[in-house]
Amino acid sequence: MAEIHLIGRAASPGLAIGPVTRLTVAVARRTASEDPLQEAAALRVAIEGARAELAEQIKANQGEVADILEFQVAMLEDDTLADAAYGVISEGVAADHAWRLALDVEIADYRAAEDEYFRARAADLVDIRDRVLAHLSGVDTVARITSGSIVTADDITPSAFLTADWSHGGAIALAGGSPSSHVAMLARARGAPMVVGLGPLSETGPLPSLALVDGDAGVVVFDPEPETRRLFERRLAAASAAEAAADAGRLKPAFTADGRRIAVLLNVAGPEDLAGLDPAICDGIGLVRTEFLFETSRGLPDEDTQYAVYRRILDWADGRPVTIRTLDAGGDKPIAGLTVDGESNPFLGLRGIRLSLARPEVFRVQLRALLRAAVHGTLKVMLPMIAVPSELDRASAMLDAEFTALRTEGVACARPLLGIMVEVPAAALRAEDFRAAFYSIGSNDLTQYTMAAARDSGAVADLNDAGNPAVVALIARTVEAGRKRGVEVSLCGDAAADTRLSTALLATGLTTLSVSPIAVARLKAAIAKVGS
Ligand code: PEP
Ligand code: MG
Repeated sequence: MAEIHLIGRAASPGLAIGPVTRLTVAVARRTASEDPLQEAAALRVAIEGARAELAEQIKANQGEVADILEFQVAMLEDDTLADAAYGVISEGVAADHAWRLALDVEIADYRAAEDEYFRARAADLVDIRDRVLAHLSGVDTVARITSGSIVTADDITPSAFLTADWSHGGAIALAGGSPSSHVAMLARARGAPMVVGLGPLSETGPLPSLALVDGDAGVVVFDPEPETRRLFERRLAAASAAEAAADAGRLKPAFTADGRRIAVLLNVAGPEDLAGLDPAICDGIGLVRTEFLFETSRGLPDEDTQYAVYRRILDWADGRPVTIRTLDAGGDKPIAGLTVDGESNPFLGLRGIRLSLARPEVFRVQLRALLRAAVHGTLKVMLPMIAVPSELDRASAMLDAEFTALRTEGVACARPLLGIMVEVPAAALRAEDFRAAFYSIGSNDLTQYTMAAARDSGAVADLNDAGNPAVVALIARTVEAGRKRGVEVSLCGDAAADTRLSTALLATGLTTLSVSPIAVARLKAAIAKVGS
């Protein structure tokens, strides 16, 4: 068979070679009753069953997986999906057909959406459709992925992705899909190479036996010629050797080639992200995103629940500094019952510290839990989305008040250092005006607000560039303010892990970078080359 060379879009980096499998979905069969009332009841039971099953899975997961499942629960709870199906059932159509019809209309709308964010969520709707169909028929319809294989499909759902163990190789090559999809996020987190947008793959012809996936360049080669395969295997061996060398350096402190010590901290979404990790890989934790604690199905977490989680993280760090960020809800992180629905521009709305100050009864609980946890290690508390000094001053006064109250109650507590995220251009431009104990630059939001290019829109992804000189100038401005005030400046946005930016970032004078655990080895290896 002649080699087929396809160019798509890179969605998750890395190289992989393996046998090709085509993802096929089992079709569930079901005997319908003739009675619309019975059919409607069956659909109601199936939707509730799917919702309960997702809630169980959320309990068993943390971080990104839980976030994605939460998102699917929110979609499932949207009555407009089910109402369309009930309408068709009342006309005499069986529940499974009605549900499929209603969902397929919605899926087609999402796939045709102008905004990449919505197109990228079509696979979640497919997931919901199939989960409810599985409950209606009593048959598990989730397509299973063989570990180590190169999976081809039009698109794949998060549930299908989660059936495979990606630690043994394998990759994803999709005709459709999107780099902003939930599966792409999962693939990046699990180190599975992924290429999307390859265009129609033959559904009927003989299946290619082998594929090479280049998740860095966005290229897939089916049935490679021997010479193509030999060259690819040579690249794979070089990449594995570089990774092994980087892994060997993982536990060592990071130094630039010219001898500058760079602190490498971790970004985590919860204690589960730290499971099995040796604390020696890092100089501490630079960002704990606490939103996971506030996810809808769990309700608002009480003080003891929060305290226990913060303490687990401090215990893991074993004396290293831990920076916990107060709730950053709103914008791209809605929390039902807490954030404001229907804002015309949630990224510019009541989010981050603005929301915490507007809901002091919720904020106070978090501050008390943090004050209590602070006796168990080196805790620093960081406020998100700070724009003006009065926000820091008000939060600081609330922290002081809760500190005094806890002491009066005889509860063990300590006052942690209070710093700010610098992710609003106004704060970067005037950083020296804030009486912050430290600054942590949130390059994700700083970039989107500086470039007026949303962080979740594929259409403006080229503009959303943390390496743009305007963004780098604001980072340098913040580093300079920190130097003048004698306080630490770190960077905890995704730019810290983008090794193409390491030289430019360290040239601003930054000496502390915070990245997800999976990026530590690669970042330390890149730091070692800076200044060579
Ligand atoms: C950032 O904005 O860079 C950041 C680290 O915060 P988040 O990505 O959680 O908004
Ligand atoms: Mg941010």
